[in-house]
Amino acid sequence: MNGEEFRHWSLKAAEWGADYRESLRERPVRAQTQPGEIAARIAASPPETAEPMEQIFADFEEKILPGMTHWQHPRFFAYFPANAAPVSVVAEYLVTVMAAQCMLWQTSPAATELETKVIDWLRQALGLPEGFSGVIQDSASSATLAAVLCMRERALSWQGNKQGLSGQPRLRIYSSDQVHTSIDRAIWVSGVGEDNLVRIPADGKFRAMDVAALEAAILADKESGFLPAGIIACVGGTSVGGTDDVVAVAAIAQKYGLYLHVDAAWAGSAMICPEFRHFWTGIEGVDSIVFNPHKWLGAQFDCSVQFVRDPDVLVRTLAIKPEYLKTHGKDGIINYSEWSVPLGRRFRALKLWFLLRAHGLEGLRQMIRNHVAWAEALAARLGEEPGFEIMTEPMLSLFSFRHAPTGVADLDAHNQRLLNAINDDGRIYLTQTRVDGRFAIRFQAGQFEATEQDVRDAFAVITEIAALLSL
Ligand SMILES: *Cc1c(COP(=O)(O)O)cnc(C)c1O
Repeated sequence: MNGEEFRHWSLKAAEWGADYRESLRERPVRAQTQPGEIAARIAASPPETAEPMEQIFADFEEKILPGMTHWQHPRFFAYFPANAAPVSVVAEYLVTVMAAQCMLWQTSPAATELETKVIDWLRQALGLPEGFSGVIQDSASSATLAAVLCMRERALSWQGNKQGLSGQPRLRIYSSDQVHTSIDRAIWVSGVGEDNLVRIPADGKFRAMDVAALEAAILADKESGFLPAGIIACVGGTSVGGTDDVVAVAAIAQKYGLYLHVDAAWAGSAMICPEFRHFWTGIEGVDSIVFNPHKWLGAQFDCSVQFVRDPDVLVRTLAIKPEYLKTHGKDGIINYSEWSVPLGRRFRALKLWFLLRAHGLEGLRQMIRNHVAWAEALAARLGEEPGFEIMTEPMLSLFSFRHAPTGVADLDAHNQRLLNAINDDGRIYLTQTRVDGRFAIRFQAGQFEATEQDVRDAFAVITEIAALLSL
């Protein structure tokens, strides 16, 4: 592709992107294709000779687009959002064009220095005290893995990396039963092992871990010769928003010298609003926090921020400095690749800088406040609707419900059918979870461009399809 063609196709892609965003409301939110349907349209082998760009681009629209689920659709109410605010897409385009590898300070000083700045902007935005620094990871899963490795290495006086885990005391890590599967995987990959993740039952309105049970488990483990290493608390769990009492958990962590990591991957964005910070009161007492600006805040995927109180623990756990990676003669610089598992890193700070400046904190707060208010209103309305039950009350903008009309014997199967029918209809997109063993439909409002009307439309679609199924 020569320079002239690059210009032409870049402009074409930009035009396409703007048209695409404008046309989202007319598209079904979830892809309406069957497994294998898209693969069947793709040539079995790579071409030997070059194909014209016109054909490649046309095939993208014809063969790929129908198999896309539209995460930027304003009526995407499934999972959690993966917002890509238009301004962050523009920043991503610039990052893509420069395609810098930002592993060390010298491999792009601006990327490192801007990262330090925007991390500190976010620290202030979230109301975290001075003294927290941080790093942008690709995902919350990576951030939590890094935190678990810190727990492991700190507890083993940094001998795990060197000697391996066999022959070491058996480590124990504690969490509630509401945490995300990324915690399980961090426990597997770090060599701690699933059997050593002690799941403390969670209860109450916010499904917080039972802190007395946590302490009892730690004491029993010490008694049995295990080595407690850390606790993972959650603020806004993925299933129904489970949220631990950070003050109480931090007190236990401190009492027993355990590393405390908080997973606030989704809910962290809401902490730009002071009125929601009661959900993580005590956060200043934790060792690390992960939150994903690529979820609710609007930074195009991927962009996960890990705050740490003491970066030395992270660097001591993860930094490797072979000669060819050293930066000689520069003092006081940060090489962020020493703060994460992967060496190579994308320039992720630029989209945050664009996003925060173009919307301002006040603009982003308003969006989040709207989502919370609209979700609460929808939960209230559905709760009053005959035949509907709210299974879990809104935690921020997330709640769960089910349709339980009289005379339906198998409510789990009925709600699975309802969910499938809603998603086949395509006007909205919802996903499911289990609440105390029962099938529940999740609803979260969080798409960057959703309006109050979109959330009202969700009520209309849910009740209309439920009525049809009950005929
Ligand atoms: C989404 C989510 C994760 C995983 O995030 P990734 O960035 O996809 O790894 C972890 N924990 C919670 C609470 C989440 O909502």
